[in-house]
Amino acid sequence: MRCPLCDSRTKVTVTRSVTNAKGYAIAREVSEEVTPFTSDWVARLRVCPSPDCAWTATTAELYLDDLKRGWVRKDPHIRKLLRGRKK
Ligand SMILES: [Zn+2]
Repeated sequence: MRCPLCDSRTKVTVTRSVTNAKGYAIAREVSEEVTPFTSDWVARLRVCPSPDCAWTATTAELYLDDLKRGWVRKDPHIRKLLRGRKK
């Protein structure tokens, strides 16, 4: 991925996943956002290598199948609850 400010190619400095998430702020942040929608993810910290820029961002890698119909809750129990709440 490229830096949106200076177009340099970003470098990945931290990678965390479901199985090595404990105690890492970046993993907690991504987990809170995506866990209702998918059971597997990878969180990465990307940094712009340009010393004049130093832009950073967190990215999340997910299975495309989990996004094909948009952000839909995949947990059947939660989906049933949401259906029951209609009207
Ligand atoms: Zn940059």
